[in-house]
Amino acid sequence: MLVVKKFGGTSVANKERIYNVARRCIEDYNAGNDVVVILSAMGKMTDELIEKAKDINPNPSRRELDMLLTVGEQTSVSLMAMAMANLGVPAISLNAFQVSMHTTSNYGNARLKRIDTERISHELESRKIVIITGFQGVNKYDDYTTLGRGGSDTTAVAIAAALRADKCEIYTDVDGVYTADPRIVKKARKLNEITYDEMLDLATLGAGVLHNRSVEMAKKYGVTLVVRSSLTNEEGTIVKEDVKVEKMLVSGVAVDKSAERISIIGLEDKPGTAFRVFDALAKANVNVDMILQSVGRDNTKDISFTVDGNFGEDALKVLEENQARLKYQNIEMEKNVAKVSIVGAGMMSNPGVAAKMFECLYNEHINIKMISTSEIRVTVLIDVNDAEKAANAIHDIFGLDE
Ligand code: ASP
Ligand code: MG
Repeated sequence: MLVVKKFGGTSVANKERIYNVARRCIEDYNAGNDVVVILSAMGKMTDELIEKAKDINPNPSRRELDMLLTVGEQTSVSLMAMAMANLGVPAISLNAFQVSMHTTSNYGNARLKRIDTERISHELESRKIVIITGFQGVNKYDDYTTLGRGGSDTTAVAIAAALRADKCEIYTDVDGVYTADPRIVKKARKLNEITYDEMLDLATLGAGVLHNRSVEMAKKYGVTLVVRSSLTNEEGTIVKEDVKVEKMLVSGVAVDKSAERISIIGLEDKPGTAFRVFDALAKANVNVDMILQSVGRDNTKDISFTVDGNFGEDALKVLEENQARLKYQNIEMEKNVAKVSIVGAGMMSNPGVAAKMFECLYNEHINIKMISTSEIRVTVLIDVNDAEKAANAIHDIFGLDE
């Protein structure tokens, strides 16, 4: 059997943890399996490297930042290979260049395009444990790129798909996927199974447990994921196409406090307005999330949207630069907002789920600023100070603790 095991930063944060991971991998190896290990940078190393960069230059180029950040993963994989060797097991670490993990050229948020498997297969054939850097890739200019924060999960899934692995296990510091973030909702409960679509929404909406693109990729290539803790032997959560049990009406509540709302007031009410606004934002690589357009009056209309906090200033700048062309009166920006979402595959065939969520917020006297929905999701934008209260109340009303 070929097993891909990915360990996050907290799982390799220090010497003791590195040895703990080494032993877990060796167990699989000694059982006769081929073992490929993907690692994140140790502990908070990526954050620390970013701080270092910003200390030198508050606005470092994305290329140089990627060059720096790849050091994090290279540190953990080489130390892991040394730990395994010390335990008497042959192991080899490989970075994105050595494997050849090809990505698009955009630094800081590159996408994996193709992974060469020859070197990995060759090392596995000589019965080595192969330890590969997560998060990094190489672009067509032979530069390092990174896949965006949390991107090691995506590396693991991509490698599992490329090698047609039998198992892809994502080890983290929690024992699976929860109905809500246990730090926010005390009664949150671990799920045994969840569908790709639900997981994708939860991951995108701020459940930090998996990188959303890793879920996208797992769905595309049919890679079944197991999310589990590196510190216990708990079973974890299985992420796959369809769950055995009846589809949950609501599987989880997600809170994203990093959202910001931007409203463009007094746009012209005529064809092409929305196109020009969002085209300008897209060209600047600003990811827009919820979008709301008001009904036109006096030949003007307003468009509001949310962006991830990292992109708020970028978005503002693009809009200001294009004011003459976009013809609006003014822009309002609200930073103290949070997105609270419910996700559930069972919603599709059950009307009234959204109404129940809104009623719950009404009972808590929480005002809704924006709403967006999909077949399996309802998201509201509310004041950030209400976010935790809302998440707990919603978790209760849908009985997610049972
Ligand atoms: N080390 C990178 C980060 O902190 C990638 C990862 O952990 O998945 O974002
Ligand atoms: Mg992660």
